Amino acid sequence: MEAKRTIIKYRSDLDYMKKNNYYGYDIINERNYNIITYSIILSNIYFIILGENVIRDMILGYCVGNLYFQTLHMTTHTAFLEHGVEHLAHGVGLYVAYIHHYDKPNLLSTFWLEQRIAFFTDAPTVPFLWIPFIILNTNCLPIYSYHLGIQLLHGPTHEWYHLTQKERNNHFNYPLNQFLIFLNWVGVINERTHQKHHMHNKNNIEKVINFNDMEIPFTELFNYIWDFIYYLKIKTQIRSFQYIMCVVLHLLLCLSFQYYITTIV
Ligand SMILES: [Zn+2]
Ligand SMILES: [Zn+2]
Repeated sequence: MEAKRTIIKYRSDLDYMKKNNYYGYDIINERNYNIITYSIILSNIYFIILGENVIRDMILGYCVGNLYFQTLHMTTHTAFLEHGVEHLAHGVGLYVAYIHHYDKPNLLSTFWLEQRIAFFTDAPTVPFLWIPFIILNTNCLPIYSYHLGIQLLHGPTHEWYHLTQKERNNHFNYPLNQFLIFLNWVGVINERTHQKHHMHNKNNIEKVINFNDMEIPFTELFNYIWDFIYYLKIKTQIRSFQYIMCVVLHLLLCLSFQYYITTIV
């Protein structure tokens, strides 16, 4: 009963955003989600069959995709920390993320369409930041395609983490569920590591750790960076300091890594 009331409340908030044409909401529908999904899967298959350095490009796509996620995820938490839920309505993804982190983690699968599409609408740096690098070196195209594949996988992965085995069978189609079970088995995704990310709550948002969703090196380093930026924020008392620092960090790291990629492929 309680869960049902919560769903109705959030659904009416999301419908309000839709009526008022908040950024991103007007393109959130299943047809658009299917177009995004199938074009990315087809382009991944194309490059797997015809690419010259498939393994290298996949590893680079995986690394850059997770670097994007990890640093953008940090900016999401600064939005929670510095602005609070009442100011999050400009981004549907941000609103759904807040519900997920601080109210009902397993409601993520109820708003699956909103959160999966938000990976493409609320993070516009993903498509646009690649354009100059692809112009410089067209060999980057397969890496960009695999990067989008990782971006596509983040949504279902996160839903999967918060569902029971039985709920997973109902929520996902069979191939996707088996694929996620396989990724968890080989250690690319890890439901136990993700539980640590949820150990803080809305009263101690600054205590958040582990910003990754998939296994990548240097996760610990980002925990220290987060703490250091928070320390500077308290010292300087500058408004939105942490948010600005995280955006700068995101742009610097991702652009440098993409530039490095263009020089080696
Ligand atoms: Zn988080
Ligand atoms: Zn989660």
